[in-house]
Amino acid sequence: MNHSKISYYAELFLYPIVVAALLLFDLASNGVALQPRWLLAAAGGALLWTLAEYLVHRFLYHEVAILKQLHGLHHARPSDLIGAPIWVSVVIFLSFFVLVASLADLQTASGTTSGLLTGYVLYLLVHDAVHHWPLAEQSLLQSWLRSCRLRHVRHHRGPPGNFGVVTGVWDHVFGTALAPGQTRNA
Ligand SMILES: [Zn+2]
Ligand SMILES: [Zn+2]
Repeated sequence: MNHSKISYYAELFLYPIVVAALLLFDLASNGVALQPRWLLAAAGGALLWTLAEYLVHRFLYHEVAILKQLHGLHHARPSDLIGAPIWVSVVIFLSFFVLVASLADLQTASGTTSGLLTGYVLYLLVHDAVHHWPLAEQSLLQSWLRSCRLRHVRHHRGPPGNFGVVTGVWDHVFGTALAPGQTRNA
């Protein structure tokens, strides 16, 4: 589904504000010093994001019929601003927060959701960068973003693989990493 620029980039503005609000709320209710439990939960949430990113892309976007169709539009026209409507991610992250808060406590829910959201925003930025930013300049040839682009371009052009956008770690763990020269005809 094609998006207006505002709706495509809305999550990039909304979620950093949500993370800042969760952090401020934690500082206000638990004291000015950052709580180790909140930080640990945030780190866990960020790690969890990298796995979620891999699993959602590999098994939902590439296997479930309706999502496969939508994601196929991005594969067919990678330069277009295509994405799910913002309420989808809002419902998912809110449900995650409520679930963790009910299973553990508010601080753990706030930390893990913040980590998860930070990972998600990083994913949005990196995915936008690899498709839209000029990364072929000499100074960027060795950059981390450029390595993300090369990995993701192989996902678009190669056989199924390289499902991780922010990191290729899970592709190595699950055996779906594509070698540099691997294309559809290889
Ligand atoms: Zn894909
Ligand atoms: Zn892409």
